[in-house]
Amino acid sequence: MKTLLACLALVVLPGLTLSASAPPALRVVALNPVLAEIAREVGGDQVAVNCLVRPGVDPHTFDPSAADLRVMVDADLVLASGLQLESYLDRLVTKIGPAGKVVVVGDALPSVLALAGGEKDPHWWHSVDYVMFATEIVRAKLARLRPASAGGFMDHAQAYTQRLLALKAWAAGVIATLPPAQRQLVTSHDAFGYFARDYGFTVHAIAGLSTDGEPDARQLARLIDLIRREHIRAVFAESDVNSALVANLVAETGVRLGGSLYADGLGTADSEAATYEAMVRHNVRTIVGALR
Ligand SMILES: [Zn+2]
Repeated sequence: MKTLLACLALVVLPGLTLSASAPPALRVVALNPVLAEIAREVGGDQVAVNCLVRPGVDPHTFDPSAADLRVMVDADLVLASGLQLESYLDRLVTKIGPAGKVVVVGDALPSVLALAGGEKDPHWWHSVDYVMFATEIVRAKLARLRPASAGGFMDHAQAYTQRLLALKAWAAGVIATLPPAQRQLVTSHDAFGYFARDYGFTVHAIAGLSTDGEPDARQLARLIDLIRREHIRAVFAESDVNSALVANLVAETGVRLGGSLYADGLGTADSEAATYEAMVRHNVRTIVGALR
């Protein structure tokens, strides 16, 4: 009898071990480093996140390679910024299917900014409120993909949202020390519209909503005029963008270079903007420190 039980155990146990082992992590591909962070925070050990748009890569001009496409075909979920930041998105959705696998986060956000011509501002992550919205969108999607972990996703999302609320309060407190008249943000491309809306800044960008637009001479002349007339104390370069345009403004007006801002993503792991919170803190400190 003992021998028979031992044999049974040997036969049955491997099966038990298999069924008791954790399911493989959901494969999540992000086209925005902020979305990658949200997916890691909410998904925890239930997700394996691969961010295709790495630090230093310009999301306005990024185009997925054949290898990137294969990674997305194999993924359970693809997270995109939306609002036309990924010009290749329509092409992508038909190639990597099925429908519903690609979640276009920006397109689900309320009250997004648009230019007079209708072009939408894709830089939603500069509003902490929208990052909280995005966290909820990602949480709901992960819960649908893996209902057994829905409770864990909810706990993680709530903890992350608490940190975002603290970040938002910190930013508001620091910016409150800057008189409203000094909240003028001269940057190389028009990436800080949502930040400006949240904190009462006016953005004066040399180029448009994308980094690949050519600034025209009239806009440059207008900015030189504005910097002199309003006695703007500093202008800002961007971490990943050729700052020749900003250098031009500095040379023309003698205005101070206030530092570099992270406009289109996060920094490398060893940078001062390795996480979303660090990126916002860096930008707020740089802006307020230079304009005060
Ligand atoms: Zn941008």
